[in-house]
Amino acid sequence: MSLVVNFSLAYSRILVISFYQFGGYTMQMPTPDAKVLSRKAGIVARLQEVLPRDAVISDEMETRAYECDALTAYKCPPLAVVLPSSTEEVAAVLRVCHNMGVPVVPRGSGTSLAGGALPTADCVLLGVARMNDVLETDYENRFIRVQTGRTNLSVTGAVESDGFFYAPDPSSQLACAIAGNIAMNSGGAHCLKYGVTTNNLMGVTMVQMDGTILQIGGKHLDAGGYDLLGLICGSEGQLGVVTEATLRILPKPEGARPVLMGFDANEVAGACVADIIKAGVLPVAIEFMDRPCIEATEAFAKAGYPMCEALLIVEVEGSPAEIDEQLALILEITRRHNPVELREAKDADEAGRIWLGRKSAFGAMGQINDYMCLDGTIPVSELPYVLRRIGEMSKEYGLDVANVFHAGDGNMHPLILFDANKEGDLELCEAFGADILRLCVEVGGCLTGEHGVGIEKRDLMVDQFAPADLEAQMAVKDVFDPAWLLNPAKVFPLAASESRRSVALAAE
Ligand SMILES: Cc1cc2nc3c(=O)[nH]c(=O)nc-3n(C[C@H](O)[C@H](O)[C@H](O)COP(=O)(O)OP(=O)(O)OC[C@H]3O[C@@H](n4cnc5c(N)ncnc54)[C@H](O)[C@@H]3O)c2cc1C
Repeated sequence: MSLVVNFSLAYSRILVISFYQFGGYTMQMPTPDAKVLSRKAGIVARLQEVLPRDAVISDEMETRAYECDALTAYKCPPLAVVLPSSTEEVAAVLRVCHNMGVPVVPRGSGTSLAGGALPTADCVLLGVARMNDVLETDYENRFIRVQTGRTNLSVTGAVESDGFFYAPDPSSQLACAIAGNIAMNSGGAHCLKYGVTTNNLMGVTMVQMDGTILQIGGKHLDAGGYDLLGLICGSEGQLGVVTEATLRILPKPEGARPVLMGFDANEVAGACVADIIKAGVLPVAIEFMDRPCIEATEAFAKAGYPMCEALLIVEVEGSPAEIDEQLALILEITRRHNPVELREAKDADEAGRIWLGRKSAFGAMGQINDYMCLDGTIPVSELPYVLRRIGEMSKEYGLDVANVFHAGDGNMHPLILFDANKEGDLELCEAFGADILRLCVEVGGCLTGEHGVGIEKRDLMVDQFAPADLEAQMAVKDVFDPAWLLNPAKVFPLAASESRRSVALAAE
């Protein structure tokens, strides 16, 4: 089963309903600036002066192609779309928008599940898809420099014939761009060992809203001064438009071997994960699937998974001797939890089948119902408790949940199933989702693991952060984007960002 099929199926079924069908839907967007709307022709004319003609889209029908990302419950065509090809063109666009007071929404491939790239009606959507060149490859110093519109998978594609790879591997890696990966600090199944984007990012070129071009980090390990690179990675398009990235590449490991483990309860699988992590052994991945997910996946991908309550896929890598040593310890720990299945891959074919079900999981779930994919992080030791509470809450809300996630990192992805055609189901699903995310915070975790805040979680930020913490984060945006024109209505509670924007407007 190809990732293309899995990805496109998953993509088409995640919240496949239109915002406009749900007047009662609670998420608010700011009122578009009437002055900007009335100046559309002039704004488009200025953009056409600084970009090639085919790089500016202003026809209403054509802008609809950019009206949403993968959180398709929300849709809004932008005022115009620009598709620059270089850092200089991005800077020119931002200068125009800055001078004319026009908001800008940066976009990579539009796969955000948090509504991070959702346009507003008065914005210019700046897509970096045409910026996909490899600019430099240096194997001796193990880095690659790319334009950020390049897709995640094609970064590895550019170096794999020379025995290298780029480690962060979001399930959407066939489609998502390095731009979005940096903005969301994306992760994936193999990030337990290799870390997420921030751990593999060495430098960026970023254009500020006023068109200033900044070089942050570079080909070296660390830089003097503030860690601005750490600040930019995960900043969700709030601080600038990232146009180029220097990424760490790694030599491919000698070998890897996954083991499939079955358990008779979610909590037991959760406890097994906690014990593996506690033992100090570092698998490259620990992935978790519960029964609803196993059943859907088997029907879809026929990977030969056992029908049990919970599955783990644990993969280790290295030389054959290193693999044997790590697996011996992991299997010893696992046996203490009385697994109902233990299947160690004997060859590449069997390894492929073990991963097949996991990689098909999102697509498989999309075949049974609409679903909302959540993303929260918890301390690994809390897995058994949180899984039990999610099960109880599922009964209270009357909505089914399937769990498939990066268990080694404690990065949960509960998929709440609902019926988009049933009145009130979406709202119920949202309320349930918010409660699960609050539970993550309650046990010492975080509202987001790898999908970002976007519009989806911005109003829950007050559950995670004290007013002073939020104020400090907003003060950082004040420095980089004093007029609050970049990626409006995301990340911060709407009332807070709107009042910041009003103050900036009044000061102009
Ligand atoms: C089926 C499916 C599976 C997924 N699996 C994973 C997964 O395993 N792990 C994971 O982490 N995520 C996953 N995601 C979520 C998503 O793919 C990631 O968040 C991804 O990094 C988004 O990249 P993008 O290029 O599509 O960004 P977009 O959706 O276009 O934008 C995302 C954010 O980045 C900002 N942005 C875009 N370009 C720039 C730029 N040049 N400069 C500054 N800011 C910018 C946008 O404004 C927005 O806030 C999945 C999504 C889907 C649909």
